[in-house]
Amino acid sequence: MNLHEYQGKELLSSFGVRIQRGIVAQSAKEAVDAAKQMTAETGTGWHVIKAQVHAGGRGKGGGVKLAKNLQEVEEIAGNIIGMDLVTPQTSAEGKRVHQVLIAEDVYYPGDNEPDEYYMSVLLNRGTGKNMIMYSTEGGMDIEQVAEETPHLIFHEEIDPALGLLGFQARRVAFNLGLSGTAFKEMTKFVSALYTAYVKSDASLFEINPVLKTSDDKIMAVDAKVTLDDNALYRHKDLKELRDLREENPIEVEAGALGLNYVDLDGNVGCMVNGAGLAMATMDLIKQAGGEPANFLDVGGTADAARVEAAFKIILKDPAVKAILINIFGGIVRCDRVAQGVIDAYKNMGNISVPIIVRLQGTNADIAKELIDNSGLDVMSATEFQEAADKVQTVLS
Ligand code: GDP
Ligand code: MN
Repeated sequence: MNLHEYQGKELLSSFGVRIQRGIVAQSAKEAVDAAKQMTAETGTGWHVIKAQVHAGGRGKGGGVKLAKNLQEVEEIAGNIIGMDLVTPQTSAEGKRVHQVLIAEDVYYPGDNEPDEYYMSVLLNRGTGKNMIMYSTEGGMDIEQVAEETPHLIFHEEIDPALGLLGFQARRVAFNLGLSGTAFKEMTKFVSALYTAYVKSDASLFEINPVLKTSDDKIMAVDAKVTLDDNALYRHKDLKELRDLREENPIEVEAGALGLNYVDLDGNVGCMVNGAGLAMATMDLIKQAGGEPANFLDVGGTADAARVEAAFKIILKDPAVKAILINIFGGIVRCDRVAQGVIDAYKNMGNISVPIIVRLQGTNADIAKELIDNSGLDVMSATEFQEAADKVQTVLS
């Protein structure tokens, strides 16, 4: 689950990570009130108006703007709220902005120049350790830094049993070229950030930029936070931060029906039981020259109601040109699944795309007979390859 920047910052702040402060607003009027409140709390005269959508690169798309007075706050917030923000990370249609963050301006002049760094915390699956990845080159595309100046990206591997050790936090501050107050600030920042990552069961923190202010404070100016869905059951408060408006509507609907569905770009809808078989089915579709339109695991109990729900979900995608049902009857008997497919088909009336059903396992022969004698426009197959070939035939 992804969080909005303002939610991510609140989470970080609750663990003692210094952040650029801000207040979220849903309208231009609320934005002005938020700006007044920020001024009262922080003394800032300038504010940054930041679009809150689940996509990075907002600055490049015109979703992050500096306002130097309340009139500009109102104007800019009014323009950004309701716009379809296009960034390098969104589709060409962009993402609708429902709210903005009114943040204090933290790039104020002072004794030193402000400086931007990059920092992320994630799991290194290769070593089985957590990792802090950081760079002196903040505020820009880390992919570009990796490409052009890879020696400016550092890694600190953390044994999850030991946690982040003091010398490791100091090494981060040292590699970033810090000294004095900024050095101490950075060690505190990194330690708090790592604690927040572990305690919130996150799978990714990306703070770009981490800012050194002109008076040597270290703070998070941006926050991309991804939480591990499988651990959300123990974070009831964080679970509530989910913003369904940011997610794929078909995936949300499938989730509510208990279906494990991931929307993809292809034209062959798949209905499969078991994640492993679903992956293998997608491979086979590709081999046969098609492109999977989705990943869909209907789970162990593929009865008529579930099959019908899955049909409906698959058919919501207008790109679907054929449906491949690939079910292994282990716990569930194939004849029951076949009957489910037939019932669902009859219930739904007109399904306009060809359907290929491959049932294997307990009572597979009875199942094939049921399908073949149903009088419906459904092709059956018993072998995996046979099913894939039939998909290819209907597509060509
Ligand atoms: P992103 O473009 O989606 O990654 O959004 P960020 O939150 O990283 O903001 C983009 C850029 O806006 C940052 O890299 C900063 O250069 C700039 N920015 C953010 N906060 C401030 C601020 O308080 N003052 C000024 N002048 N610029 C800021
Ligand atoms: Mn950023």
